[in-house]
Parts: sequence; C-alpha cells; structure tokens
Amino acid sequence: MMEEVLADAAYTSSYSGGSGLSPGVIAAMEKVERHRFVPGWLSAFAYHNRPLPIGYGQTISQPFIVALMTDRMRAKAGDKVLEIGTGSGYQAAILAEIASSVYSIEIIEPLGKQAGGLLKSLGYRNVKTKVGDGYYGWPEAAPFDAIMVTAAASHVPPPLIKQLKPGGRMVIPLGTQFMTQYLMLVEKQMDGSVITRQILPVRFVPLTGGH
Ligand code: SAH
Repeated sequence: MMEEVLADAAYTSSYSGGSGLSPGVIAAMEKVERHRFVPGWLSAFAYHNRPLPIGYGQTISQPFIVALMTDRMRAKAGDKVLEIGTGSGYQAAILAEIASSVYSIEIIEPLGKQAGGLLKSLGYRNVKTKVGDGYYGWPEAAPFDAIMVTAAASHVPPPLIKQLKPGGRMVIPLGTQFMTQYLMLVEKQMDGSVITRQILPVRFVPLTGGH
C-alpha cells in the first residue's frame, strides 16, 4: 500500500504543491492498521490504495488521499486538530499519531458511535468524537491549529474559518457531487484574512446537514 501511496505522491507532486510526503505522515500511515477500519468482508482489500464502502453510503478514503490531506494540513506534535466526517475513524487515527489532540465530528450517528468505540478500543486517548453537523465545527474546543474536512462542501464553512487559529491551515474538498471537486488548502493569515489554493482534483461524498 505504501509503495503505491508514495508513487502517487511523487507522480502528483509537481502540481499538488509539495515535495512528496513528510516522514511523520509516512510513519503514521505505516503504523495504523487500515484493516481495523474497514468492514470484515472487505478486509482482503484493506491495503489496496482504494476507497472502500463503510456502510450508510459512505466510504473510507483512498490511502493516498488520506496521506496527502494529512501532509498538506501540516499538523505536528502539540497541535489540536479538528476533523469533519469521522466515517470509519481511520483518518482520525492517522491524525492522532501526529497531533496531540484530535476532535472529530460525524453526522451519521451509528458511524460516529462505531468509530468512537473503535478508536477507544485501539487505545487512542487523544481523540474525542461526537455526533453532529460538522459544518458548525466544535466551538467549545476551538481554536484549532488545523482542520480537515473529509466530505465535499459547496463552500468553506465560515464557522470553520472562525475556529481556525491565525496561521492555521484547513484542507477541504470543494465542489458538487457530480462535477469536478478540488481539494483546497485554506490558510488563515495572522491578520485573519484567508488564502485559498487548489491541491488536486478529487472525488468525495457530499457534506450533508442543515446549512
Ligand atoms: N474520514 C473518514 C472518511 C469518511 S467519508 C474516514 O477516514 O473513514 C465522509 C464522512 O463525512 C461520512 O462518514 C459522512 O457521513 C460524513 N459527513 C457528511 N456530512 C457531514 C457533516 N455535515 N458533519 C459531519 N460529518 C459529515
């Protein structure tokens, strides 16, 4: 799996705005056992570089995309990070290997509860999960050093920009379900203004909720 992830990273690096993947991201990807996060009947495919269904019409992202998003959000030890779209919990586990604390929100209750239980049973004490609409973020825990949204939104949710620290970074897929989506890097400057850049064309399930 890592061979394919690294090959994808090298292949896309000229236009995805980076130089491969950082050693911390590679170490986390090597450590977290992806087969724990996919349905049992798909475990034979857990280490393929592909998204897989996790029920409720949702997917666990392709490993390369998990690695790329984690790399571009540039989380580091000491950071408090927010993930929108817990899904299987796999991305949250990768983040928990790197950052000091991870907050993750899932809108589909059974998925959120299952992922929360799994992360606990795997010993991730630095991950807090909750069920709710991630569009509004987690104001009680804000501000965050970095934010990752793992479902495609039509726009960058203003509450998430508000909950990002000055100097912080957000990675988010923007676009609709049936048109090209782009993975975007949103950087909040020290003066509070925001700079947005495209990373890569992607395909994600839509961000749902009441907004
Ligand atoms: N990060 C996940 C990928 C999950 S796919 C993983 O590693 O497995 C995207 C997830 O976002 C889905 O589980 C979907 O239910 C969830 N989602 C969609 N809209 C949401 C919203 N408004 N708030 C929180 N979660 C949402």
